Amino acid sequence: MQDHLINYLKQQVGPEHVLTSPEERWTYAYDATDRAAMPDAVVFPGSAAEVAAIVRLANAHRFPVVPRGAGTGRSGGSVPIEGGVVVVLTRLNRILEISKNDLVAVVEPGVILGKLKAAVEAEGLYYPPDPASAEFCTIGGNVAECAGGAVAVQYGVTRDYVLGLEVVLPTGELIEAGTRTMKGVVGYDLTRLFLGSEGTLGIITRITLRLVSKPPARQTLAAGFDTMEAAAATVSLILRSGLTPTALEFMDHVTLGCVQEMLPFALPAGTAALLLIAVDGQPQDVADRVGRIAQCCRDQGASPVLESKTPEEAEGLWRARKVVSPALLKVKPHKVSEDVVVPLGSIPALISALQDIARGRGLIIPSYGHAGDGNIHVNILYDQQVERERQAVPLAVEDLFTMVRKLNGTLSGEHGIGLTKAPYLGMELSPAALALQRRLKAAFDPLNIMNPGKIFPGPPPP
Ligand SMILES: Cc1cc2nc3c(=O)[nH]c(=O)nc-3n(C[C@H](O)[C@H](O)[C@H](O)COP(=O)(O)OP(=O)(O)OC[C@H]3O[C@@H](n4cnc5c(N)ncnc54)[C@H](O)[C@@H]3O)c2cc1C
Repeated sequence: MQDHLINYLKQQVGPEHVLTSPEERWTYAYDATDRAAMPDAVVFPGSAAEVAAIVRLANAHRFPVVPRGAGTGRSGGSVPIEGGVVVVLTRLNRILEISKNDLVAVVEPGVILGKLKAAVEAEGLYYPPDPASAEFCTIGGNVAECAGGAVAVQYGVTRDYVLGLEVVLPTGELIEAGTRTMKGVVGYDLTRLFLGSEGTLGIITRITLRLVSKPPARQTLAAGFDTMEAAAATVSLILRSGLTPTALEFMDHVTLGCVQEMLPFALPAGTAALLLIAVDGQPQDVADRVGRIAQCCRDQGASPVLESKTPEEAEGLWRARKVVSPALLKVKPHKVSEDVVVPLGSIPALISALQDIARGRGLIIPSYGHAGDGNIHVNILYDQQVERERQAVPLAVEDLFTMVRKLNGTLSGEHGIGLTKAPYLGMELSPAALALQRRLKAAFDPLNIMNPGKIFPGPPPP
């Protein structure tokens, strides 16, 4: 990048907020995937006006701008694959307001989700979305990816809590989308368009969130099964029963093997799957529903079925669930993580197809995740040094996506398309739908400077 551009960036945000050495730039080259690419510079703006100045410079000189929160993305969204400037939003980290009267919070995008949740709970309110990365991801990254998490079964995902946004468009203009009100139908729903747009339509600089009241009680239940089929059938039964779990997660036996020592109890040898279930609400109602869900698990042959006796015990169970993803690297040094979703009735078919794919391709493919909404995290484990395994991985990914589409599922429930899934977009979107999405992108970003190379396979048509 030319010196005069770097100097201009330094003038706008302060020289201490621009990184240019190779070592510093490399720190912002990757996210939580195995992809990496070197940016030309890394900039930390301190206000929306500074973000707009960076984007206007990028327009004038046609260099890529790549928004970045905490870099915990699982699809390569913040990897600067075409170079340019990585714009890190972590200095925009203020909780501007928590209003008990309006049940809203107004925040900057760089706020760490866990801090926001704690601040909201200190006011007796609740912001439900709870991805396993809550302690280190940013709310801006959550909006850009439409993050989900365990409690989506009852509460929905990030999309269901964003009322309004302030965004710097790829042209450098600053717009407001949405409202501070619970309803609003004035014009097209641009807010929703930005949800899950993966930093390709603009840089989010302020977020207005809907809050709910904090549920007074929550209880957790763990149930072990000796077959995956029995666990999958129990998920279906619980969902049909009207017992409305808050979270309904599962782990298969490989996953369990990796986190077993973190669980507050020992599981019998031969446990093939564990269901982790949370229920929240009024104390008596929670106790009632937990009892009935436990019975439902026992009726399906679960053993043991354990109800958490203290908040610490429940916390221990959820901590084990939250470290599952990195813990799988105990089995093999590399993995490709997919987060497919299938209709609820197709979970057993997907689980059985995964076993076939693993056998057919000679790979270990553990799965865990949000069984309650059909969002299964499929992990294809491999060793980069073993050529046979390396070559089998993309074939297994293709097998998986083919099966998911056959089951009327979707390629991603919460991690987005980014770089890693872009080549497969045509497996889900028809040519006409894909062309319309490209036209939308071009309407927002005529020069294709905003996070280029993401979501769409190949360059934009001339
Ligand atoms: C261990 C682990 C567990 C995880 N568990 C879950 C889970 O349970 N559920 C889930 O949904 N995800 C999960 N994730 C994925 C990840 O944490 C989420 O996608 C999160 O929302 C990313 O936030 P981030 O701040 O790290 O964003 P980044 O990775 O920095 O960026 C993600 C995308 O958002 C864009 N972006 C970031 N900030 C902005 C902004 N202000 N304006 C516009 N675009 C922006 C980037 O360009 C990029 O495309 C997990 C990740 C890890 C590593």
